[in-house]
Amino acid sequence: MATSDVSRSDGGLLAAAADELRASVRGELICPVDAGYDEARKVYNGMIDRRPAAIVRCADIADVIATVGCARQEGRVLSVRGGGHSVPGFGTNDDGIVCDLSPMTGIRVDAERRTARAEGGCTWGDLDHATHAFGLATTGGIISTTGVAGLTLGGGIGHLARGCGLSCDNLISADVVTADGQLVTASEDENADLFWALRGGGGNFGVVTSLEFRLHPVGEIYGGPIFYPVDRAAELLAFYREFIAQAPEQLGAFFAFQIAPPLPFIPEDRHGETMCLIVACWTGPVAEGERAIAPLLEAAPVVAQHVGAMPYPALNGAFDALRPPGLQHYWKADFVRELTDDAIAAHVEHGPRVPCVEATVHLYPIDGACHRVASDATAFAYRDARFACVIAGMWPDPADNETNTRWVRDYYDAIHPHSEPGGYVNFMAGDDQHRIRDNYRGNYQRLTEIKHRYDPDNLFRINQNIAPAG
Ligand SMILES: Cc1cc2nc3c(=O)[nH]c(=O)nc-3n(C[C@H](O)[C@H](O)[C@H](O)COP(=O)(O)OP(=O)(O)OC[C@H]3O[C@@H](n4cnc5c(N)ncnc54)[C@H](O)[C@@H]3O)c2cc1C
Repeated sequence: MATSDVSRSDGGLLAAAADELRASVRGELICPVDAGYDEARKVYNGMIDRRPAAIVRCADIADVIATVGCARQEGRVLSVRGGGHSVPGFGTNDDGIVCDLSPMTGIRVDAERRTARAEGGCTWGDLDHATHAFGLATTGGIISTTGVAGLTLGGGIGHLARGCGLSCDNLISADVVTADGQLVTASEDENADLFWALRGGGGNFGVVTSLEFRLHPVGEIYGGPIFYPVDRAAELLAFYREFIAQAPEQLGAFFAFQIAPPLPFIPEDRHGETMCLIVACWTGPVAEGERAIAPLLEAAPVVAQHVGAMPYPALNGAFDALRPPGLQHYWKADFVRELTDDAIAAHVEHGPRVPCVEATVHLYPIDGACHRVASDATAFAYRDARFACVIAGMWPDPADNETNTRWVRDYYDAIHPHSEPGGYVNFMAGDDQHRIRDNYRGNYQRLTEIKHRYDPDNLFRINQNIAPAG
């Protein structure tokens, strides 16, 4: 492309800067004039329509260093994109630069040490696939297309959390390109303050080019979805609250409100009906799975279930088709210490109003191993919360934006008084920035100090932002 093609008044980089960046990276540089621009600027949330000046599809760490350097020199905002799933669209921006790590998907599993190192652009599908070959896994998200880095840096909640802790609890080390373009390693022994901040503090501290995880022997699991009539929601939630508190930690089971999708195991005449759903994942001996899950099948009449032995990655990808890229998204979130009767009443009022099959409300249990980490041991502060609740508005047609966002907001207004002040940063909308102190509780001040040390000018600010102290 001729130099002058890139020099544009529509927010593109100045020609000289674009030329310099193009010359220094091995990956693709995509500017507004380039053919693939409209595809490259898309993120998972179809509601986000932003026009960055340049998107760099980084091939390696050198590309990341060059991209960070360019953003700094040009005074442009910088977005870091892993899997692109951020609901507020943090993986893109207007007029800035996107450091897109999606080509960086290398993974190395050390089966003997039970560790894996994953590059910053890996999805959970990539990592689960690689570790499953060795009968191993670590806590990850419940949709396979979500990014490993973005999810882990915010905390990381999934089927394995009760038994194995949050994703960030399994982080052993991370390689990070900081705002000044240095590559540093963060672990308990090296840059320990940065390592502390990365485990829950989100993308505030630099571009994570790779993450090393502790793995657990998880190969075949026993579990799957169980659908119940929605008019049993009150008794089911009360049962679930008591059951999960006592259940062995090898049992993950989250509660949901969900319209029944047209799946073969659900009776055809019940498709489209709003239901309660529990998705179970038993990681103990498969032969004991039936017994572990039996109480869930007896808690209320079961409309449909698809429970059985399956490879762990199969469960972790089971809901992908229901949530394709490009849906409209608006989410809100709270941590819940005690699921009180009043909270249950609020759920029973608003959950059954879930507006469409893509939307859902999830109550994820985050007790067990998550509680054994002290509140100040990592940036993720809510170690006494029993549940992370997310009201996930997702719908295909922008014409329905008002109805769906209203449902999320009304639901949130009803449950928030029964929840903790803070919520999980990765489940929050862009308009929740004012909750940042509450999300980190007593850890917030320390986070601002570490932010000041590693990113005093707040180059990494397209996130649930922690402002540098000072
Ligand atoms: C359909 C869906 C399902 C989800 N399921 C779960 C779930 O089961 N459990 C759960 O805990 N969360 C879940 N989430 C929330 C998810 O954790 C966040 O959206 C997370 O930010 C996604 O990370 P990403 O890399 O895909 O997103 P991106 O949009 O690429 O990145 C989001 C932000 O993360 C940071 N980031 C990403 N990659 C890097 C990197 N390499 N270095 C530094 N910073 C980086 C940046 O601040 C970036 O702006 C889900 C989200 C969606 C949309």
